[in-house]
Amino acid sequence: MKMKIWSFAALAFSVAIVHFTAASLAAKAQLQTRPSIAAEAAITGLPTIVTTPLVEPTPTPEPTPTALPQKKATYKKCHVAGSEIAMTFDDGPHPKLTPMLLDILKERGIKATFFLVGKNTADYPEIAQRIVAEGHEVANHTWAHPQLTKLSPVALKKEIADTNAAIYQATGIQTTLMRPPYGAINASITKRLNEEFGLTIAMWSVDPLDWKIRNAEHVTKLITENTTPGAIILAHDIHPTTVQAMPAVFDTLSAKGYKFVTVSELIALDLPEPIRGTPAGTPAATPAAATAPAAAITPAAATAPRATP
Ligand code: ZN
Repeated sequence: MKMKIWSFAALAFSVAIVHFTAASLAAKAQLQTRPSIAAEAAITGLPTIVTTPLVEPTPTPEPTPTALPQKKATYKKCHVAGSEIAMTFDDGPHPKLTPMLLDILKERGIKATFFLVGKNTADYPEIAQRIVAEGHEVANHTWAHPQLTKLSPVALKKEIADTNAAIYQATGIQTTLMRPPYGAINASITKRLNEEFGLTIAMWSVDPLDWKIRNAEHVTKLITENTTPGAIILAHDIHPTTVQAMPAVFDTLSAKGYKFVTVSELIALDLPEPIRGTPAGTPAATPAAATAPAAAITPAAATAPRATP
């Protein structure tokens, strides 16, 4: 009797094992025969979802970073999309004329750039302060207005550093622009001013010869007739005739649609120069751009400085 019970138990256990194994095998078989997603979709009538692309995508090349227009060492004028221009005044501050000019600018809400002589800045720091307080830009025009090309490296450094210091003392501004007196400069001085002092050279594209022809109408005519978008206009706030010319200059250019900005603002708007050497038959760039003089200052320019301020 006891044996029978044990035999029955063993049989029951064996049956259970067989059942379990059979169930596992069936499940396994079902897994192996499970149709692919696509086949299943075909069976069920669902839309086929292709999960892997048929063709390996070719790796997209790394996007080439768009080169920002590099700031130049020297600007004679800028290439702008709008009608911005920069009016500049050299050789001040002048104790009487610069305040008169500041009044004229203030009445019209016009911003200009003043290339200050260091010595005059040290003499009239309150005028330099007013220039900055009224939103204009101040820049370095050397201490005593020498021809930089005739100076020793040590003397050159003193002219620039002392002027930067005088402007900083008067206004708290670290200048980033300089204009060489008489436009006298060469490649090595430009490089030194750029690298050693972090100064960008600002030349000009419109010269009314106001230092030579002391006539307000003449100054007005030369400036208003020669200004084009992106122009940097040279003038001197130490000549009464120049300051007398300014109301007409500002009003005429404003009426023509020009917008006055500082030199640094103009440089910030500078676009890459139009590509030269376009194939024959294609229209040339704007007449203004086509006739614009080259921006680079050649060593030859250094040997032929202007005769007077
Ligand atoms: Zn000057």
